[in-house]
Amino acid sequence: MTSSKRHSLTRAMTRPWSILLLWQSAGWISFSVLNPIISQRVGDPADPLVPTVAIIMASLTAVLGLFALFYWRTTVQRDIGPKEQRTHKCLSCGHTILLGTAICPYCGSKTFF
Ligand SMILES: [Zn+2]
Repeated sequence: MTSSKRHSLTRAMTRPWSILLLWQSAGWISFSVLNPIISQRVGDPADPLVPTVAIIMASLTAVLGLFALFYWRTTVQRDIGPKEQRTHKCLSCGHTILLGTAICPYCGSKTFF
């Protein structure tokens, strides 16, 4: 129970994380675009290191954001699967039966609870 709870918590956190990281990446891209314009207006020569760092940071945050988005997507798909076919064990014979089945198809006992 605790591991599944932790898993769903990680899944819940990956979505805002991916959005945040992709926004951060967009921020770095806009910064690398705006920096030469700002330095032109100020009159100082643009530091050649700044756009390089900005591009590296933009790609790094984009990769992390996409990874988080990919993780969120795959866990969502994994979560839908068992929910559609939830099973439980029969109390009298131990066979795995679908949840919502009133009478066990193996032993015929009423497993409704
Ligand atoms: Zn049974």
